[in-house]
Amino acid sequence: MMKILMKKSWAYCLISVALLSCTAADSVKPETAKVKNVIMIIGDGMGPQQVGLLLSYARQAPHSVIASRTTALDRMMEQGRLGISMTYTADTLVTDSAASATQLATGKFAGAEMLGLDKDGNPQENIIEKARRMGKATGLVSDTRITHATPAAFAAHQTHRSQENSIPEDLLATGADVMFSGGLSFWLPEQANDKNSALHRQLAQMTGNSIEIKSSRKDAKNLLTVAAEQQGYALAFNKAQLQQATGKTLGLFAESGMANGIVETKNRDNVLHTQPTLKEMSEQALEILGRNEQGFFLMIESGQIDWAAHRNDTGLLLHEMLRFNDTLNAVLDWAENRQDTLIIVTADHETGGFGFSYSGVDIPKPHSLPGVAFAGGALFQPNFNFGNPDVLDKIYAQQLSYHDIFSQLDKLPKDQQTPLKLTELVNRYTEFKITEAQAVKILATEANPLYRAGHMSLGEKTVPKMEVNGAFFVYQKENRENLLAQAVSASQQVVWATGTHTSTPVFVFVKGEEQTMQPFAKILHHTQLGRLAIDALQ
Ligand code: MG
Ligand code: ZN
Repeated sequence: MMKILMKKSWAYCLISVALLSCTAADSVKPETAKVKNVIMIIGDGMGPQQVGLLLSYARQAPHSVIASRTTALDRMMEQGRLGISMTYTADTLVTDSAASATQLATGKFAGAEMLGLDKDGNPQENIIEKARRMGKATGLVSDTRITHATPAAFAAHQTHRSQENSIPEDLLATGADVMFSGGLSFWLPEQANDKNSALHRQLAQMTGNSIEIKSSRKDAKNLLTVAAEQQGYALAFNKAQLQQATGKTLGLFAESGMANGIVETKNRDNVLHTQPTLKEMSEQALEILGRNEQGFFLMIESGQIDWAAHRNDTGLLLHEMLRFNDTLNAVLDWAENRQDTLIIVTADHETGGFGFSYSGVDIPKPHSLPGVAFAGGALFQPNFNFGNPDVLDKIYAQQLSYHDIFSQLDKLPKDQQTPLKLTELVNRYTEFKITEAQAVKILATEANPLYRAGHMSLGEKTVPKMEVNGAFFVYQKENRENLLAQAVSASQQVVWATGTHTSTPVFVFVKGEEQTMQPFAKILHHTQLGRLAIDALQ
């Protein structure tokens, strides 16, 4: 490949040599380098600071579970390249996942919350449609649900990301060879909700009773039947079925979102007997897609980094970053010694305005140091608390997500849902203890200052009382979790700016053949990044 490109360049030099001097730079000027396989891995909400959390934990946590202290991103950079990319939409400063993934998938500017359309609302060819035209295999893998914004933007064309009743039909029309994620409920007819029906029993049996049978549809369409009978998909609902899959497969492994990172890595005894991990889904996708001699395009989403960050749940965020790391390591293992594959790792945006920060709380006591400058007895005495790396082990030690902690509280009889009970739960499942007085504040409510009748998330009349930046905590039902994060902020050495996304530029890690990587190593916009990925497919 490289030889052919070089030859062309030299031929051009020879022709032009009479008119212009041909410099050495001309001879290596890259034309659009092509590869057989493109794997795009999206950490949803994985801004530079989320990457930083993984790196700090790997390098500095006294008992890091990453024994080598080396992350998959370190492996990417051994021979890879790094760029950064702006994520803004056609006419906004900040993006959501739908518009951002649309920009990555189509190379065209989109509007916020749109799927697969340009900024004016015209359907645009996405990278999966293009790859299929070229005879390549294609795949979508996500630990959220397959109809959720990020995977949907790579296959669907809808005016709004919330149209999850229509997205499955778009996914089937686009026809990616493998689709592995959660979200079974959007594929089942409304009638499946009748627990006494033959249909309900039949579905329960088909899924091996591993998934709750529930429909989120508003019609009688059974899209599993359409997938299997009209589109030729094998169906998989659990890990065993996934691992037997050899060809075109629709794998739906949860009723809605898949297990979170803490459950996946620590509480495997319940859901994960049957549910595959993001790594396992990715490995099986590579196994299947790798059989196509024309090559493939695969998008893998580590989608719950964003969900943890919206809730400002630092312990969960760390586990989501570890899940991402495990998955990327598996992809790098697969691609080891291959010259025909381009791996792109990026994020769709940053979520939460997260970061470790130094504070005025618990300032370490002055102490002596062995260095010559301190030999006279002077004490080392910084003015602030710059953060003890021990906090990383404590963050890792979290046993339940904030969401699951509040679910436990909400399951109790109303008169037991007290600040004292919340204190007990938080102090049982996390290393950052709260007081009952703090729990009172977390559970305090107020008349909704952002109230909008009928709004998907601002429609409640009474909501948790936010002390600061309330306008940016728009998923109001979850705001108790954000308030818990604020309560433990100083002890975690962590600040969170928002409950939504920020405009922070995101990293672009690429690994592949030298000439293919080169164009990524600059300051890009996600439309350019998408175009480069599309053009890289041969
Ligand atoms: Mg997503
Ligand atoms: Zn988000």
